[in-house]
Amino acid sequence: MILALAGGVGGARLAKGLAAVLPPEHLSIIVNVGDDFEHLGLLVCPDLDTVCYTLGGVNNAAQGWGLEGESWAFMDALSKLGGENWFNLGDRDLATHITRKAMLGRETLSAITAYFAAKLSIAHKIAPMSDDPVRSIVHTDEGELAFQHYFVRRRAEPRFRSIRFDGVEQARPSPAFMAALDNPELEAIIICPSNPVLSIAPILALPGIRARLDSRKVPIVAVSPFIGGKAIKGPAAKIMDEIGIATTPAGLASYYGGLLDGIVIDHADSATDEPNIALHVTDTLMRDISDQRRLASETILFARSLIR
Ligand code: GDP
Ligand code: CA
Repeated sequence: MILALAGGVGGARLAKGLAAVLPPEHLSIIVNVGDDFEHLGLLVCPDLDTVCYTLGGVNNAAQGWGLEGESWAFMDALSKLGGENWFNLGDRDLATHITRKAMLGRETLSAITAYFAAKLSIAHKIAPMSDDPVRSIVHTDEGELAFQHYFVRRRAEPRFRSIRFDGVEQARPSPAFMAALDNPELEAIIICPSNPVLSIAPILALPGIRARLDSRKVPIVAVSPFIGGKAIKGPAAKIMDEIGIATTPAGLASYYGGLLDGIVIDHADSATDEPNIALHVTDTLMRDISDQRRLASETILFARSLIR
């Protein structure tokens, strides 16, 4: 079985491909919760919702988050009341959030996520990295900003200095994450092309996770989120620049600090530099489900070729 680590959009795209080529019992998708926050009395889980909506085929692909066919009557009314309108929640999306709020306290985030996945007819396992709250706080040249204040309210414009994950020391990996890590059938770990600093680092910051990943002695392969040294969308390249790490294969390998056995990179990055680990060079832009399937299959085959 394959363990995939994912953030939002980039993670969801590859996860959808993995789910298309692997049977449900052979894949576990573990998702970042560092972006989660309490807003308007609700718990917002952007990456979990993006992965569920994408695998369920109901995501708004053009917008990059939320549901397709969304309407905004709630946001309009909220604005007229002078409410906090910097974070958009569509009318349909609001139903997800109110349902999650109603279940919280009785159910874990893992159980709530499994419930949503079942409602979307997703057979594959999607789980949060942890059922305990972990909140990313970004240290910028404007001071410390709660994650969504940095990312959405300030559009990731302030200069990034560092990030910390509030609550991570007390957080335990979710049952599905532990089960995948302990699974004797675990073949490989795939780090999806998510933002390394914002989406993958919180997962790796869980106590004991890096050591556990290392000790499994299965190939760990990342799919680069960079094409031609640039992010498809979002601030991944800007942040790497601001922390002084190149958006190249070697830069990515050094960011992950010896964790990786291989990287899947785009043809556009093949001539940049040579990291000290295995590379698989292909077309990494996932425009549609056939790209997602192809990249997922190639990544699995590449990871299997690295089995020690
Ligand atoms: P977020 O949580 O919604 O910001 O999403 P992620 O962290 O999962 O993913 C953001 C990253 O996905 C960005 O750095 C993009 O470059 C990357 N990304 C998005 N689409 C693709 C794609 O089709 N191919 C590759 N290789 N990367 C992608
Ligand atoms: Ca995210």
